[in-house]
Amino acid sequence: MSEPAIQAVIAPVTPLQQNCTIVWCAKTLKAAVIDPGGEVPRLMAALKAKGLTLEKIWITHGHLDHAGGTAALAAETGVPIEGPHPDDQFWIDMIPESGARYGMPGAESFTPDRWLGDGDTVTLGETEWEVVHCPGHTPGHIVFFHRPSRFAQVGDVLFKGSIGRTDFPRGNFEQLIHSITQKLWPLGDDVAFVPGHGPMSTFGAERRSNPFVSDLAIESMNV
Ligand SMILES: [Zn+2]
Ligand SMILES: [Zn+2]
Repeated sequence: MSEPAIQAVIAPVTPLQQNCTIVWCAKTLKAAVIDPGGEVPRLMAALKAKGLTLEKIWITHGHLDHAGGTAALAAETGVPIEGPHPDDQFWIDMIPESGARYGMPGAESFTPDRWLGDGDTVTLGETEWEVVHCPGHTPGHIVFFHRPSRFAQVGDVLFKGSIGRTDFPRGNFEQLIHSITQKLWPLGDDVAFVPGHGPMSTFGAERRSNPFVSDLAIESMNV
């Protein structure tokens, strides 16, 4: 079965330079905004400039810089919010309080139209994406994976040369390592990923050189 291609553009938002990503089905030009942390007018302008129709809002996890603009974007467009996993509800509930503290007043909490979990699939235009539950940075963190394109949006699970923080409430280092090595690596070394912050990389490159989760680092951790 051949699926239409996808395209993606990264639009860093918020003072935390979070990699909000606009992905779309190249055939239908139906788009999803993944992790609209804020700056909704700018995201709307980017969609319009590319001639895209917003179909979904996808959320990797409930942190302010990833989800702070969700309520505003949903209110303005009426499109459904899909994700994260329900274990991130407590983070979503804290968005207004975190927003006030971190210079994003007006950031609102929300209830997703569809919570997501491991093995779920989500559609965008004529494309189908897989959902992988990757707890550790937050308990309800998920990853969006488009298998035919070898493309993933991994939020704050994994970065080029680093991994997500685990010192937040209900963060868990062992769980994060497990998520990366047991859930992401099996998807394939050739998978290119957009992390929540910083430049893109591939799973294969991180397995070779990431100081936290390279094959060598994992091997020495087990000794
Ligand atoms: Zn985060
Ligand atoms: Zn983040």
